[in-house]
Amino acid sequence: MASYFDEHNCEPTVPEEQYRQNALLELARSLLNGMDIDLGPMDFTDWDHRLPPPASKTLVENLPKVTVTAKQADAALKCPVCLLEFEEGETVRQLPCQHLFHSACILPWLGKTNSCPLCRDELPTDSPEYEEYKKDKERKKQKEHRLEYLHGAMYT
Ligand SMILES: [Zn+2]
Ligand SMILES: [Zn+2]
Repeated sequence: MASYFDEHNCEPTVPEEQYRQNALLELARSLLNGMDIDLGPMDFTDWDHRLPPPASKTLVENLPKVTVTAKQADAALKCPVCLLEFEEGETVRQLPCQHLFHSACILPWLGKTNSCPLCRDELPTDSPEYEEYKKDKERKKQKEHRLEYLHGAMYT
């Protein structure tokens, strides 16, 4: 690559000027290198930066339907999505985390992503890549726990 001075067909007159140019180049280079970390190649298995896929269709279709009891209605239990209070006798959907939602509120949500809007508890998905990623994350977590345990065992 041609240098700044070749391109502009001139010679640096003052040594300080050249020093400054080099320093600027150096700065630009380190900034670009720093940016590489953020802009790195798009990895489509990088779920850390993506919305998880929709919840498994069969699971969503088979979400248990429960009837709101008088007790729940009296407790002013609300649908976490639309914030309307449930009415006694109303049929609602229950997620595995036990949270209750209107069908009309939770079904479109689970068609977009796989977690409970309230507690972020994740449901299984139909995406093998995502399930693999989750298992991998779980394995890493377990490894960390083991290391913490070993560390604790050694120093206490
Ligand atoms: Zn609702
Ligand atoms: Zn929940």
